[in-house]
Amino acid sequence: MHGFRTIIEPFRIKSVEPLRITTPGERREKLAAAGYNLFGVHSDDVMVDLLTDSGTGAMSSEQWAAIQRGDESYAGSPSFYRFEAAVKGLFDFKHVIPTHQGRAAEKILFSVVGGKGKVVLNNTHFDTTRANVEFTGATAVDLVIPEGKQPSVIHPFKGNMDLGALERAISEHGRANIPLVMMTITNNSGGGQPVSLANMRAVRAICDQHDLPFFLDGCRFAENAWFIREREPGQQHRTVKEIVQELGSLADGMTMSAKKDGLANIGGWLAVDDDALALKCRNLLILTEGFPTYGGLAGRDLEAIAQGLEEVVKHEYLEYRIRSTQYVGEGLLRLGVPIVQPTGGHAVYIDARAMLPHIPPLQYPGQALATALYEEGGVRGCEIGTVMFGLKPDGTEAPAAMDLVRLAIPRRTYTQSHMDYVLEVMERVVKRAPTLKGYRIVEQPPALRHFSARFSPLA
Ligand SMILES: *Cc1c(COP(=O)(O)O)cnc(C)c1O
Repeated sequence: MHGFRTIIEPFRIKSVEPLRITTPGERREKLAAAGYNLFGVHSDDVMVDLLTDSGTGAMSSEQWAAIQRGDESYAGSPSFYRFEAAVKGLFDFKHVIPTHQGRAAEKILFSVVGGKGKVVLNNTHFDTTRANVEFTGATAVDLVIPEGKQPSVIHPFKGNMDLGALERAISEHGRANIPLVMMTITNNSGGGQPVSLANMRAVRAICDQHDLPFFLDGCRFAENAWFIREREPGQQHRTVKEIVQELGSLADGMTMSAKKDGLANIGGWLAVDDDALALKCRNLLILTEGFPTYGGLAGRDLEAIAQGLEEVVKHEYLEYRIRSTQYVGEGLLRLGVPIVQPTGGHAVYIDARAMLPHIPPLQYPGQALATALYEEGGVRGCEIGTVMFGLKPDGTEAPAAMDLVRLAIPRRTYTQSHMDYVLEVMERVVKRAPTLKGYRIVEQPPALRHFSARFSPLA
């Protein structure tokens, strides 16, 4: 935008949080004590924490100022009305219902519209979305375009819904069994890949033909809108805010985690147009989250989100955000590290199976790479592969479709020199790659094993 090669962070630092510099020996000890599971490592033993971008961003001075303004009245707090106005300024849904985070909105929505025999269609359900759909007895079906499943295929909108597959799924399952169609922007589980406006409009048209409600899982709406502005023909003259408003106008409702593009550390919302649906959702909200003007959040959290929504659609912020993720991707490619291409909005996904071909999937190449990055430089990423998805409900094990390591970039938290350091750590890991060993699992729970399994390195 400003014509320079260096992406300067569009902020300066006002408050600092020291990083503890650890030694390789210390990190080896911590790893062994955690059973080689990075979820078991204490975060103050991590130097650059790329485990997730959820709730880990830095807030602005204006957000901290807004926190002081937070009004903690039980009912009708001005903080709620500021929050509601900020949401409606982007997404003009009739009812905005605050929740403590995204999955609480999903839980409420699918408790109302889900149930046995129901089928929810999505480009790709995020794990908590899928879990909340399935918990009601309904089925979650993913319909992303084929390009979205191939790591090395370049496509500008790999998060798009496969429109033919959507039509087929509607006729196969029947309108009566489909409570809604959902679009996840950006497509988190598919590598943070965006959805085009054209695809969104086409899905809306298909939903109209079949009289189906269309919902957004809007967690990274601003990043998605930036990609539309950058990549979609005819969108370059528009502001991100205008694009976001159009995205919202195409839908009948949304779920949202404010821990992502709300630029807050906690929070979320459920928004809908339908009065009867809103009434049912608010009734459930009161059971588990709280009164409808705070929904499980403090007034100060509502203020932080309201201010965050102003900041997240700013072009200087988004240009820096997306460029700095690409910067890490480009650096990894220069080192010869295979990654999911093009880089998504919030994370870079390394193809550990391709990088460590000598480690078979059932010896967890993603785990081997993630632990090597921690041991080498205190960098924490997240295995997304056979450890996460390989254990079947019947207790058998099979390789996941891919063995990835995700480096998720928290918002406004690390500088370019932190990312240069991450690349330097990776350079050393690349040199050691042929000598890295796989793991075996020595202890695991029956489900969601990646959080608590313990591993032993193979000799
Ligand atoms: C994070 C996320 C959620 C769930 O939000 P939480 O705030 O973590 O409960 C849902 N969908 C997507 C796409 C997400 O990235």
